[in-house]
Amino acid sequence: MYDVIILGAGPAGLTAAIYTGRAWLKTLVLESAMIGGNAAIADNIDNYPGFPFGILGGELMENFRQQAERFGAEIRMEQVISVVNAPEGKKVVTTDNEYSTRAVIIATGARRRALTVEGESEYLGRGLSYCATCDGAFFRNSVVAVVGGGESALKEALYLADIADKVYIIHRREEFRASPISVDKIRNNSRIECKLNRIVTRIEGDSVMRAVILQDVATKEEETLKVEGLFVSIGLVADADFVEGLDITSDGYIFTDNDMRTSIKGIFAAGDIRDKRTRQIASAVGDGAQAGVAATEYLKE
Ligand code: NAP
Repeated sequence: MYDVIILGAGPAGLTAAIYTGRAWLKTLVLESAMIGGNAAIADNIDNYPGFPFGILGGELMENFRQQAERFGAEIRMEQVISVVNAPEGKKVVTTDNEYSTRAVIIATGARRRALTVEGESEYLGRGLSYCATCDGAFFRNSVVAVVGGGESALKEALYLADIADKVYIIHRREEFRASPISVDKIRNNSRIECKLNRIVTRIEGDSVMRAVILQDVATKEEETLKVEGLFVSIGLVADADFVEGLDITSDGYIFTDNDMRTSIKGIFAAGDIRDKRTRQIASAVGDGAQAGVAATEYLKE
C-alpha cells in the first residue's frame, strides 16, 4: 500500500513527489514514456527561473528526478491503464502491476495534437515528425516546414533553422499565438519564411515525404510546397479517461479546484492535464507543489 501514487514524471509529477517525499509519504511515481515528459525534450529553456542563461530541458528534468528520489520517491516505468476508486482505497492498474494507494495525483500531461490529413500516418517517421529536438538532426541542409502558430511551433522552427537550409512556418492565421519575443526571433531569421493564412490539406511523396499541399484559407487556392520534413506542432490534447467518474472537459482536461482537488476525493491533478490557461514548466511546478501539499493534508484528515 502506497500513501500516494503519482501518474506522470514530468515537472508537475516530480515536484509533487518532492513534496510528498518530504512529508514522509510512501510515494510511487509511474511514467509510461520518458522521465521529464515533454520538458525533457525541450532544447533550451529560457523562462524557468533560477537559470539566467537558460538550461537544457533534459538537464533540468534530470535534476528534478534526482531531487524526487533524494526524498524517497520510487519511480517506475509502467503504463497506467486505469485508476479504480473503491471505498477501501484506490487501485492503480498498469500494464505490469496492480497497486493500492490512499491518494492519487494525476500529472500525465498532454500529447501533441495530430493534423488528421491525408498522408499523416503514412509519412510518420519518413519525413513527418511531432518533435524537432528528437528528429531535427535527420534534416541537415534540407528544406522543412513546421505547422502551427503557438510557442511550440515557433521554438521548433528556430531550432530547425540552425540545422536545415530553409524552414517554412505554415500557420492558419495572420497573427501568431506565440510570445512577441519568439515572433520577433522568427521574423529576423533569414532561414525562416512564413506561409500565413494557409492550412495543410495533404502530404505527398513516394517512399519518403516530398511535398505538402497547402490551401489558402480565403481563396481556397492550393499550392505545392516541396519539403523533405514536416513538423506538426499544433497544440496539445489530453487523455484523462482512464479514471472512471472524473469530471473532465470535452477535450479531456481535468477540472480541479485551486488546491488541485478533482471531483473524486483523494484524487488530485496537476500540470498540463488540468483545465487551465497557462501551460509552462513554472506553472506545472506550482501545481505539483500544491497537489503534494493537498494530498498530504488529505491523508492527515
Ligand atoms: P498552442 O499554444 O495551443 O498553439 C497551437 C497552435 O496550433 C495555434 O497557433 C493554433 O492556431 C494551431 N492549430 C491548432 N489546431 C490546428 C489545426 N488543426 N490546423 C492548423 N493549426 C492548428 O500550443 P503549443 O504551441 O503546443 O503550446 C501549448 C502550451 O505550452 C501553451 O500554453 C504554450 O504557451 C506552452 N509552451 C510554452 C513554452 C515556453 O514558454 N517555453 C514552449 C512551448 C509551449 P490558432 O492560433 O489559429 O488557434
